[in-house]
Parts: sequence; structure tokens; C-alpha cells
Amino acid sequence: MITADLHNHTIFSYDGSNSPEEIIENAISHGIDVIGITDHQFSIGDRIGEYFEYIQHCKIKYQSKIKVLCGLEIGTRPKPDDFLAASSEYFDYVLFESLDHAEAMDFYEFIEWQRRFRCPKGLAHTDVFRLSARYDLDVVEVLRANDIFWELNTSGNYVYYYDFLTNDKKREKIRTSGICVSVGSDTHRVEEYRFKQIRRANSLLRELGNPFFC
Ligand SMILES: [Zn+2]
Repeated sequence: MITADLHNHTIFSYDGSNSPEEIIENAISHGIDVIGITDHQFSIGDRIGEYFEYIQHCKIKYQSKIKVLCGLEIGTRPKPDDFLAASSEYFDYVLFESLDHAEAMDFYEFIEWQRRFRCPKGLAHTDVFRLSARYDLDVVEVLRANDIFWELNTSGNYVYYYDFLTNDKKREKIRTSGICVSVGSDTHRVEEYRFKQIRRANSLLRELGNPFFC
């Protein structure tokens, strides 16, 4: 089984403590097969070209040891300028974050806006069940129909992760929906790398049999 971790921050994020190389080498040492770098769009700003080039260099440097993906985490509180959508085609994927937050953009507005991004798209640390209840809508089905994958975030900062581990109904909903899924550690410091949780979440989602984004 491939173990993937598609949510990691580096010094390109205002809150990341490690270089991309440190994040990648830490992942290699823990036996991760696919690592995604997803720095915050708002802290990269106009260094986006530099960021992209840097991660491309890392892809080549580590290609015999690990698959490196170049992603971007995009805020929704509020949504950023549209130029990002135009440059998104260069990225392996983008993660939209915290769509269940009280200050996040409206879900219907999000579904329209995300169409402008021309790369694979995922929803990071968002409790899709809470969002479904808020809108009285099958949000999982809407995401699946729009080819948006859903992240199980193992950072320990989000209750929905623990809820998903213990709630049969929610796991069954994800399984039967056929939605594409991913695992993200949301690492900001390698000293805090939660490897067991990453492996556990990978195993759980693989057992469900949903298509895996990586
Ligand atoms: Zn993040």
C-alpha cells in the first residue's frame, strides 16, 4: 500500500518552520511514498513562480526516493484574487481550506468559483457532514460530482478526523459516495510529524475503497 501525505507547509508559508528539503527528507525517513507540499497562497504572494520552481527542483532531486507533488493551499476566508485560478494549471493540485468555517465563502459560491481552477482540486480540513447539515444538502455528492477530493486531516486540530474514525455511518457515507479522498498531515514542523496517524488514515481510506488522489 502506498502511503501518501498531501498537506505540508514549509518556510514559504508564514507558519512553516522547515525548508521543503527538510519536509521531504523527514517524509522519506518515515517511509512516506508520496509527499505533497501545499504552502499558503497568501504568504507566497508574488513569489509563486519561485515557489513553483523550487518544488520542481525537489521533485527531480528526490525522484528515486519519493514522489513529490507541488500543491498550493488556498484560503476561503475570504477567497483570494482570481489570478491564482489562471496560474493553477501549473500545479499538481490545490487544496481549498476550511470551507466549514463561519467566515468562509458560501458553499454555492465556492462551487461556481472553483470551476476556474484548471488542476485537480481538494477540500482540506473541512467537516463535510457539518456543511451538509448547515445547507441541508448532500455536500459529499456535490463534491464528487465536481471532481473535488476530500481530505482526512490528521493534524489533531480537527474534530471531524476523530469523528470519522469512530462513526460507522459517516464512513459508510464516504464509501458509498465513491468520492475521491486524500490524507494530509498539515505539518508545520517536522518535530511534530504524526506518522502513526498518517498511516492509520491512509489504511482506513484504502479499506473503504474510495479512489485515492495522489
Ligand atoms: Zn495547511
